[in-house]
Amino acid sequence: MRIGIYPGSFDPLTNGHLDIIGRAKQICDRLIIAIAKNSAKQPLFSVQERLEMISRCCHCEGSSVETVAFEGLLVDFCRAQGVSLIFRGLRAIVDFEYEYAIALMNKKLAPGIETVFLMAQSEYSFVSSNMVKEVASYGGDITSLVPQFVNEMLQHRFSGRK
Ligand code: ADP
Repeated sequence: MRIGIYPGSFDPLTNGHLDIIGRAKQICDRLIIAIAKNSAKQPLFSVQERLEMISRCCHCEGSSVETVAFEGLLVDFCRAQGVSLIFRGLRAIVDFEYEYAIALMNKKLAPGIETVFLMAQSEYSFVSSNMVKEVASYGGDITSLVPQFVNEMLQHRFSGRK
């Protein structure tokens, strides 16, 4: 069985992430969507909130997709879960340098695990969690960029700040 993982911050989940999830699912038998707990980042949504977003938006019940949160080295988590494929999305050249360095380091640490890059669809290639948060914080319309549930959570989070 080929187990893949799609790690990220997902703060919040966007339609760009959902597109990658849908395509990664086709390439492996089981896909783990893994929220990286990163103490260096100040997330807008808690790990619990992000787990709920992903579970609701990916219709995980009964499917080959599951959602987890993890701490520590990704490759250690991959080994413990029997993961052989790491999926990452590439939007533009600016993503490349960062993603390439991580992929090389992971290859060094765990030669048996392959990183697979999926190119962002053109309609989502400008979409990032940070951009979505910024636009939503000023009341901009992001309905076509995130799932409805995420949009509601963003509206709720920022409603007290206007
Ligand atoms: P991280 O903090 O690990 O970069 P993100 O949640 O921002 O976490 O992104 C997780 C992965 O999804 C990264 O590989 C990123 O390049 C990719 N990604 C983010 N947004 C998009 C998008 N709109 N289209 C395709 N891939 C994306």
